[in-house]
Amino acid sequence: MQAEIHPKYAEITVTCSCGSKFTVGSTLGHDLLIDVCDKCHPFYTGQQKIVDTTGRVERFKQRYAMPGVADKVKADKE
Ligand SMILES: [Zn+2]
Repeated sequence: MQAEIHPKYAEITVTCSCGSKFTVGSTLGHDLLIDVCDKCHPFYTGQQKIVDTTGRVERFKQRYAMPGVADKVKADKE
């Protein structure tokens, strides 16, 4: 290794929004906050998690719960 051209590599603590913590080797130089990790990501938990702050999911459900729409979709498939 050449002297004084490499960033400092050290262990940092990564903290997830779900509360889990783990350490990784990094040149970042400070601890890290993340939104999702292997403990809480739906791919690993198998549970659906919707981050919905503006009610878009609710609006979608309301739109497709309108009377007649479900029947029409069903009729189109047959
Ligand atoms: Zn997590």
